[in-house]
Amino acid sequence: MNALLLLRSHLGAAFALGAVLLTALALTAVRFSFPTEFPGLELLLFGWLGVALGRLTIWARSSESNTAKGSAGTAEKVDQILRSVARLLQTHLTESDAFSERLHGASGRLAEHEASGPVNEIVMALIDDNRQMRDKLSDLRDQLEESRLHVLQLQHNLERSEEEGMRDVVTAIGNRRFFETAFAEELEKARTTGEDFCLALADLDRFKLVNDRFGHLVGDRLLRLFADILVQNVRGQDRVARFGGEEFAVMLPGAGLSEAVEAAERVRRVLESKQWSVEPTGERVGKVTVSFGVAKLRANETGADLLRRVDGHLYDAKARGRNRVVAEWPEDVPPLSRQTRGRRAASV
Ligand code: GH3
Ligand code: MG
Ligand code: MG
Repeated sequence: MNALLLLRSHLGAAFALGAVLLTALALTAVRFSFPTEFPGLELLLFGWLGVALGRLTIWARSSESNTAKGSAGTAEKVDQILRSVARLLQTHLTESDAFSERLHGASGRLAEHEASGPVNEIVMALIDDNRQMRDKLSDLRDQLEESRLHVLQLQHNLERSEEEGMRDVVTAIGNRRFFETAFAEELEKARTTGEDFCLALADLDRFKLVNDRFGHLVGDRLLRLFADILVQNVRGQDRVARFGGEEFAVMLPGAGLSEAVEAAERVRRVLESKQWSVEPTGERVGKVTVSFGVAKLRANETGADLLRRVDGHLYDAKARGRNRVVAEWPEDVPPLSRQTRGRRAASV
């Protein structure tokens, strides 16, 4: 399946490479068949292939955006190829203009001689041929530019819809799909660099009661405010996602277990310190707490195993009375006496 995805993501680049090879073959064939009679034919052929490449890419991108995640780099590679073709056409157009000017100059000088009639006719025919070729090249350049802009626009749309598909609408942080992608990326990175990696799972305590007493809208706002607290209390490189329901995941690359536990503790304390009330009625919601399970990735451990261990610790945190962080060792559970006393007012 991965091999299939990899193949699919490189299809665009392979296609572009194929097009360039085909072009090279076609140019060689043209060179042999028409050595001198059609000086601009190779260039025209090259330009048409560029336009065809752009069109096919647009078609491929459109179908990708309706089905699966495409490779972000493909459009850039195609854009580079189209830019090179356009540059080549532009160079030829400039040369063609210079050539046309020289022909006009020659024609003007010939006109001063009486016996220059037939030669001047040939020069005029050359000027005409050159103009026709120039017009065709100019059209091709415009079509290429149009294709290029279309490819870029489609790529932009695709990236935006992918981004939106990874964001949770209630909390505006990454959703479960984002978590799956980011988790796989972080595990891969940790395995290649050998750096520490920790995962924390947070679950709001007795959240059903909040919904039951104050309604789902208040519940939703609390979820969003908790997501904000999470984001504000972890490091820049940490990645936060809504794991599902009232559960959140924090991925902490490069963090040792004590650092990860510290981050979870910080979030737990900030949430616990707040006294929530409903806006605008001022109805008192009171304190909302959260429980955490935290674990550090072990050598040769799979993501599923790490997740299972973290989930086990979270289960322990609930079983031990909630509002706490549980990691590998019991000392990580802070005694209730250490929990924050002073509480700040906050609104949902
Ligand atoms: P515990 O301390 O054991 O975790 O208790 P709990 O009530 O938080 O856990 P439980 O699994 O019994 O209930 C989870 C609740 O989370 C139930 C559901 O109403 C609420 N919830 C899940 N997703 C959403 C959501 O998107 N919006 C709102 N408002 N509530 C949600
Ligand atoms: Mg839960
Ligand atoms: Mg809960």
